[in-house]
Amino acid sequence: MAKFMVTPANVAQREAWLGGAVPGVERVRPGLWSIPVPIPINPLRYVLVYALELPDGVAIIDAGWNTDEAYDALVAGLGVAGYAITDVKGVLVTHIHPDHYGLAGRVREASGAWIALHPADARLIRERYDDALIDSLVERERALLRRCGVPDLTLDELAGASMMIRHVVTMAKPDRLVEDGDDLKLPGWDLRAVWTPGHSPGHLCFVSPERRVLFSGDHVLAKITPIVAVHPQSGPNPLADYLDALAAVRKLEVDEVLPAHEYRFLELAERVDTVMAHHDARLAEIEQVLAEGGAAACWDVATRLTWSRPWETIPPFMRRSANNETLAHLAWLEAKGRVVREPGEPDLWRAP
Ligand SMILES: [Zn+2]
Ligand SMILES: [Zn+2]
Repeated sequence: MAKFMVTPANVAQREAWLGGAVPGVERVRPGLWSIPVPIPINPLRYVLVYALELPDGVAIIDAGWNTDEAYDALVAGLGVAGYAITDVKGVLVTHIHPDHYGLAGRVREASGAWIALHPADARLIRERYDDALIDSLVERERALLRRCGVPDLTLDELAGASMMIRHVVTMAKPDRLVEDGDDLKLPGWDLRAVWTPGHSPGHLCFVSPERRVLFSGDHVLAKITPIVAVHPQSGPNPLADYLDALAAVRKLEVDEVLPAHEYRFLELAERVDTVMAHHDARLAEIEQVLAEGGAAACWDVATRLTWSRPWETIPPFMRRSANNETLAHLAWLEAKGRVVREPGEPDLWRAP
């Protein structure tokens, strides 16, 4: 089957992504700007911050990591659009991952802007980013990994793997909580929130029916698929949440998708179908591994799946993601009665 490829909305932006560069600041259409903000030591390289012009300033969607380089890039990008950082009236955060939320607090400090988040992500902030609470989160992650059959030697390495990125976040409580369907009430904009849990429990997309654009955050991207994983803060079946949320955005009538990474593109429904097909194939692959190899722990299943590179060369942080993504698929299959979990240390998974 020929793989569907989206049409980039701006060829130069796509070329920059493919060429390993950071694309330029760009006026997407009247009153709307795209500002790439670099993110360090990460293959995604930048987050696309969108600035929406208001009568008295701008609102931005996402902010970037909390580094000086990112802050300077945001300030410079706003400058190209004709605004100062003090003109930012609001920061709409799609979700609390560091590349989206990390810089929001610093922007608020500089400008007095409000920060908006979905409550399901807002309530995870303290546990995730407060030094006093982080140990319990790491401990829960270790317990989860143990039940997956992750070998002892790598447990510490894996459980602590995401801790090194915590310094790029300022812990900022939201000023506004945004629920599914809420009108953001930005003057001159008919912007509505669409709750799209899965990648993060409180992930939000924003749609403008009038301008026919979807700000998709990490929910739908041009080429990559976001990580959907079971972890201590995820809920029991994040893949079901994610696939439901994909079906919800598929119905939206838009001409352009404005994601937080890579590049803008045109075909929302076709891209959603491709992502759904990707997960269907993954689910089938896992069923096949269990049918052929018998009962296995999640970690063993993960090592037998096809990844973008050989398992041995995947670094610890990404192996943990791979394990937890596999667990998300197993949990989805379990809920459908397509696999059975035998609880233990580790849990074993088998065909029904
Ligand atoms: Zn994310
Ligand atoms: Zn992201």
